[in-house]
Amino acid sequence: MAIKTKENHLKFNTKWEYASAPESKDHIELKDQYELFIGGEFVKPKKGKYFPTINPATGKKIASIAEASQEDVDKAVKAARTAYDKYWSKMPAKERAKYIYRIARMLQERAREFAVIETMDGGKAIRESKSVDIPLAAAHFFYYAGWADKLDYAFPNRNPKPLGVAGQVIPWNFPLLMAAWKIAPALATGNTVVLKPAETTSLTALKLAELIQEAGLPPGVVNIVTGAGATGAAIVNHPDINKIAFTGSTNVGKIIQKAIAGTDKKATLELGGKAANIILEDATIDQAVEGIINGIYFNQGHVCCAGSRLFVQESVEDIVIKKLKARMETLIIGDPLDKNTDIGAINSSEQLKTIKKYIKIGKTEADFYESSCPIPSNGGFWCKPTLFTNTSQSHRIVQEEIFGPVLAVQSFRTIEEVLEKANNTYYGLSAGVWTDKGSKIFRMTSKLRAGVIWANTYNKFDPTSPFGGFKESGFGREGGLHGLAPYLKLN
Ligand code: NAD
Repeated sequence: MAIKTKENHLKFNTKWEYASAPESKDHIELKDQYELFIGGEFVKPKKGKYFPTINPATGKKIASIAEASQEDVDKAVKAARTAYDKYWSKMPAKERAKYIYRIARMLQERAREFAVIETMDGGKAIRESKSVDIPLAAAHFFYYAGWADKLDYAFPNRNPKPLGVAGQVIPWNFPLLMAAWKIAPALATGNTVVLKPAETTSLTALKLAELIQEAGLPPGVVNIVTGAGATGAAIVNHPDINKIAFTGSTNVGKIIQKAIAGTDKKATLELGGKAANIILEDATIDQAVEGIINGIYFNQGHVCCAGSRLFVQESVEDIVIKKLKARMETLIIGDPLDKNTDIGAINSSEQLKTIKKYIKIGKTEADFYESSCPIPSNGGFWCKPTLFTNTSQSHRIVQEEIFGPVLAVQSFRTIEEVLEKANNTYYGLSAGVWTDKGSKIFRMTSKLRAGVIWANTYNKFDPTSPFGGFKESGFGREGGLHGLAPYLKLN
């Protein structure tokens, strides 16, 4: 696949050549068919329907996944309610914590297996699954296990009580990590769970179900139902769900908000983004260029907080763009299981179609550049890192979330100008600021309307930090102490 060859080496004028270094798949166990995880057991879907999960790096089917109907969702909610009433709400908090710690430790022990499956099912580079997704997922379970018996300290004089059954629906860009973001705080606060992974990336959630079964969690405390939008809607609309936790697109978030209006379901919605990554003239340019690369091309741009709008101060624009293009040339796209790969496969053929549509639109709006790095021609879903310069605020590639490796660049002269441009968006999930001056960081971060702002770094996550959006990027916070509150009744 996309290994740097001698020719490429000369062509790209880079220093390094890499031999292929594929991660072994020998140690993983995958079934041909996966069932629903309800009441502590794997059960067949009532209607007997299955859908394929595809390896986006090859276009080939990995396994069949059960499609949960409304009846299956109802069964899962009943199992979660019984588990809540019978075991989980009655169990001393320190005992609940032990189960959550156990999940964290078992995830750590099986990290390699989870990383390989995540990469095969979702297309992301193994380096990312190994160093970001799986360790962070385990860290979330560790972190929230620690809070389980300390809720009275977290919310003094507020008499924290669980809500009951949480319905959780997640996207495909960080499949296991999103499951951990949802399940860990729900369990720590004493709620039980019905979770639906995205239809293109169900495997690690189902592996997590196996792990939860092995960990001996009481049956029904965690239920995993698979399927597409209709299954998600059946969870959202189920009358016996007390709380909806959704991460996904703003469009579906709006549908969910309408669906639960007038009910007493609590909700947190983590939605889309169009982050501004802002480079001031006093920034360390090489470090900032790495930050731009990490901000948009990391995980093929499938990141809600991706720095997809780049703002560069006019005096350093030429040098930043020159260095950025040179760095783009060195990126390796290809077999996600290869440890040298920087950019893996696009998650699905549908997402690739969407990205290509935007690239076509962008070409009519601005100046286009793409890395000349080779991409495999093997039936997988691939997209080169791309860059649009001379863009303006009204362009669709600047306004709309693309969720792919597509960067739109604008220049600016003053801090006031860039703050206005950066905030001129429907979204408000994240932003980045690169400067040598702490005073400018404070000035800008207090004026940027974004839930998460990085300074002189990008895309860094930690279970102790709250995460969430402003405006159409949603509401509610996940992570940190703040991530406990949406799962609790507080006096
Ligand atoms: P999506 O909204 O299409 O799907 C998300 C989940 O919702 C999937 O599991 C899907 O099956 C389900 N779903 C679809 N229609 C539904 C309905 N009517 N009712 C209930 N559930 C339904 O999003 P996606 O394409 O999977 O993910 C990409 C989006 O997620 C991007 O917009 C991205 O910005 C966002 N995202 C946000 C965050 C965050 O923390 N803010 C994190 C990751 C991804």
